[in-house]
Amino acid sequence: MAQLVPITIARGNGIGPEIMDATLKILKAAEAAIAPEEIEIGESVYSRGIKNGIEDSSWASLKKTKIFLKSPITTPQGGGFKSLNVTVRKTLGLFANIRPCVSYHPYVETNFPKMDLVIVRENEEDLYSGIEYRQTQQVAQSLKLISRPGSEKIVRYAFEYARANGRKKVTCMSKDNIMKIADGLFHKTFDEIGKEYPDIKQDHYIIDIGTARIAARPQDFDVIVTENLYGDIISDVAAEVTGSVGLAGSSNIGDDFAMFEAIHGSAPDIAGKNMANPSGLLLAAVMMLIHIGQGKTAAKIHNAWFKTIEDGVHTGDIFRAGTSTQKVGTQEFADAVIARLGQLPQKMAAVDYPDRASGAATLPALKTVPHQTKKLVGIDIFLDWTGEAEDLAPQIQKLSIAGLELSSISNRGMVMWPGTKPVTFSSDHWRLRFKGAEVTPSMLTAQLSKLNDHGFDTIKTENLYTFNGENGYTQGQGE
Ligand code: NAD
Repeated sequence: MAQLVPITIARGNGIGPEIMDATLKILKAAEAAIAPEEIEIGESVYSRGIKNGIEDSSWASLKKTKIFLKSPITTPQGGGFKSLNVTVRKTLGLFANIRPCVSYHPYVETNFPKMDLVIVRENEEDLYSGIEYRQTQQVAQSLKLISRPGSEKIVRYAFEYARANGRKKVTCMSKDNIMKIADGLFHKTFDEIGKEYPDIKQDHYIIDIGTARIAARPQDFDVIVTENLYGDIISDVAAEVTGSVGLAGSSNIGDDFAMFEAIHGSAPDIAGKNMANPSGLLLAAVMMLIHIGQGKTAAKIHNAWFKTIEDGVHTGDIFRAGTSTQKVGTQEFADAVIARLGQLPQKMAAVDYPDRASGAATLPALKTVPHQTKKLVGIDIFLDWTGEAEDLAPQIQKLSIAGLELSSISNRGMVMWPGTKPVTFSSDHWRLRFKGAEVTPSMLTAQLSKLNDHGFDTIKTENLYTFNGENGYTQGQGE
């Protein structure tokens, strides 16, 4: 037998242990050359007061094996607990989340028999940076960070994935009509890196119409690359329209580490009842075997799984009278897959994977981006203040320091002064925009001090820059 590859496994919570048992039983019967090491994650760890749901000692196993097969966990609500998934992704640098969404018509009911798409989701940045603030009574804010290197890595990964897997098209989704700077950077990076892949078709959708199209015409898509939050949402939409969220597996890939899991959660409503469909975790394990170079075993399991589905042996979530022949529990489903190891599907297409490790992401070095000339041109000072803009403007104008001029006052992104006041309410979170011809950092601190000295509650500032003459900030709505 081939040398056993050590992998780290975690049984998780809810249906996690049942689907992990079923998956490991199938892997063993298929003679997957793996040596699982178990770590504990989730509820029991959180209950010991460990805020991120994983003991420090568990990292040692992960850092050694570099491969993690993980069952879902139950994330406690509130109480300062941190998402284990986000912690693991960030700690291990798992920048790409890959979610294949395939329909298994006519064996699993779906309106889209020809659907076969893969979502490549950026996994480390965006609103998941978790940087949030509250500085006034009425307003909460969440900071969205998109980086050039982060965008380049995920976009390149999507193109490389498409090439390696015989995919024909990569679609980028963003909202750069609204977030012109952050999403604009993502879209521009896609266009730039895309030029290096002329053999692959490419297009871009605004995320809202893109999501609608995935729901209505998923067969039009092949590989989709997108930011973290959009990717989170569209992958659930895509998985749902295949027929069941219980069927999809996913991988999280980094430069050195990889994690494989089902996309569904811990399903506490059916936990411990031998009702859960283990297919999501099993198909994640198939992705893991391909990743570690055991493609033949992966194909053997995947084909046996296809045959089981095709034979109508179904768990309750996908059971339909007429199409299904036998309603089974989690463990019986695993036994049915095991009984078919070595068989090929007769109606759905059989798969074949090479025994060559696809391994961690080996991407070329990041491109060198020409340095741009950055010039300080002003400052936005935010106030906690209650009142009307036309009362605020003359008070602030009197306090402008030499070289800086109050150019606008806005509230929730809408310019309230100068010009016609929009028909909307104002919150207690005000933005004063000061600009000048020759601005220095000391002018900014002087302006801030002057406002503070005159009793204004300044809560934060954002410097305004241009890059090669182009604004590094957006205009207020109506500016
Ligand atoms: P869920 O995915 O657990 O369940 C949604 C619905 O789908 C439920 O009705 C459930 O019974 C059903 N379902 C899910 N997986 C199934 C399967 N394999 N077979 C049959 N039916 C299945 O989502 P939820 O209820 O929103 O979340 C439950 C818990 O899971 C929460 O604590 C959440 O934080 C956590 N969660 C964890 C992960 C993860 O660890 N990766 C992901 C998502 C949610």
